[in-house]
Amino acid sequence: MYSASIINKDIQHVWHPFTHLKYAEAPVHIVRGEGAYFYDADGNKLLDAISSWWVNLHGHCHPYISKKVSEQLFTLEHAIFSAFTHEPAVHLAERLIGHLPENQSKIFYSDNGSTAVEVGLKMVLQYWHNNGMPKKKFIAFENAYHGDTFGGMSVGARNVFNNAFENLLFDVIHIPVPTSDNIEQIKSTLQSWFTNHNDIAGFIFEPLVQGASGMIMYEATYLDELILLCREHNIICIADEVMTGFGRTGKFFASDHLKNKPDILCLSKGLTGGYMPLGVTSCAQFIYNACVSDDKTKTFFHGHSYTANPTACSAGLASLDLMEQEGTQQQIAMISAHHNDFAVKHKHNLKLSGIRNLGTILALEINTEEHTHYLNNASESMASYFLKHQIIVRPLGNILYLIPPYCITPSELKYVYNVIEEFLAE
Ligand SMILES: *Cc1c(COP(=O)(O)O)cnc(C)c1O
Repeated sequence: MYSASIINKDIQHVWHPFTHLKYAEAPVHIVRGEGAYFYDADGNKLLDAISSWWVNLHGHCHPYISKKVSEQLFTLEHAIFSAFTHEPAVHLAERLIGHLPENQSKIFYSDNGSTAVEVGLKMVLQYWHNNGMPKKKFIAFENAYHGDTFGGMSVGARNVFNNAFENLLFDVIHIPVPTSDNIEQIKSTLQSWFTNHNDIAGFIFEPLVQGASGMIMYEATYLDELILLCREHNIICIADEVMTGFGRTGKFFASDHLKNKPDILCLSKGLTGGYMPLGVTSCAQFIYNACVSDDKTKTFFHGHSYTANPTACSAGLASLDLMEQEGTQQQIAMISAHHNDFAVKHKHNLKLSGIRNLGTILALEINTEEHTHYLNNASESMASYFLKHQIIVRPLGNILYLIPPYCITPSELKYVYNVIEEFLAE
């Protein structure tokens, strides 16, 4: 009864994101989380195979993070971050710098993944502006997703997500994701751009895994080649690690798979272990230096009311404590190995047009009568099939993927794989 009234009020008052309003099924009423599980209002225990919205690292309501956050709430809940500072922000910056690629030296805080990307793009533009070379163009990958704000949409793919805004988005050079077949072609296309235009400011990419476009994976060596080429032409490289950060690809950051490091990294999602909204844009010293000037107009004019929120930073610190534990690293290795075995087993499954895995991410491209597409109707039917088996997934069209919290056990993983196999057999 309680649940029905919440659902009715939800339908009356709430507008959910990315939700097809006319046909959307009533949302599931979650009342509580613990470890790898959500509990709904009907008493069902639901296994979270996608870390909520790819954010949760160590399980829901982890006692250690909850304790640290609640202590922070009784010490300092918010402080203006212009001309003031506090320990959680400083300690988190120091600890992140310790894990980030060696060239990273400054941490800029914001609220979410999209703002982390906006800040990265604006840092690049500000760098060129302050150096008296107003370069404006970005290179980005086809199928990219970098968030839903205007800068993020502009460097993202032009698709159903942003059709309505298309003519307001700035122009970007979109290149294909590199493979052994096209890498030479991409490099020669870029080379001719660089020879004929001097307006290219930066290159932004999701390193190794393009998340929202369907967990598309590509190899580090080709990205390394593109970064090197960009570097030779003074083009600033931004790694959008909002999804790939904090162990998802098996290493701490996806950039750890690279020889040539990005100049800027964008972090969010797992940054607080999935507890609180927080964004980070880190940068190399030369980017920061461009804004250090006697000239006040060279200031980086960007900030948010909740920038470096102390409770969010304390969640980030607690999550890092857990990330650094040997046990967490073993769990990441365990999940990666199980995903790999499953992918090898189903490499030639005729129900699939592809199966791929990297670290704790596994993606299956299911054959359907429709082509592979975000609006593919297989999405809803798959989600409800898995929900009937007490598993939460949220396929991207016909692409079913797992990105579980690191506390998931081998037997829970096997249960999910079994349900996938039953689904494929039907
Ligand atoms: C989710 C995501 C974003 C946007 O983050 P929000 O917190 O949802 O704004 C940006 N880039 C990538 C790669 C993402 O996966």
